[in-house]
Amino acid sequence: MITNKELIEKAKSVINPQKVAGNKLTSDVGSALITDKGSIYLGVCIDTQEGSGFCAEHNAIAAMVTGGEYKIKKIVAVWKDGTIIPPCGKCREFMWQIDKDNWNTEVIIKKDKAVKLKELLPYHWHNEE
Ligand SMILES: [Zn+2]
Repeated sequence: MITNKELIEKAKSVINPQKVAGNKLTSDVGSALITDKGSIYLGVCIDTQEGSGFCAEHNAIAAMVTGGEYKIKKIVAVWKDGTIIPPCGKCREFMWQIDKDNWNTEVIIKKDKAVKLKELLPYHWHNEE
């Protein structure tokens, strides 16, 4: 199993800040996740003028789903200066909506601290079975 430090380095490896249309900055946050099968998926944030952009975690999760996987063992997002950023509310809910087992995903929120998704999202949206 990959260490938290190694996963953080994977997230950093895709950070590549670039100005896009409207002077918006993209790729200044990188995310890495490892699935229950041991696959690693990466993503960067994309910021756009009218708000259609998305977070680095969202991008990494989309890559995972494209790869036919749904269960996240561990995930992290890192800003361009190396700061670890806990996921926003939308990404927390997104992980839960992709697979209910992600309730136990380890989310790295600081250099030396990881918590379960269920600790970050105690009252998820619910409309089903
Ligand atoms: Zn987010």
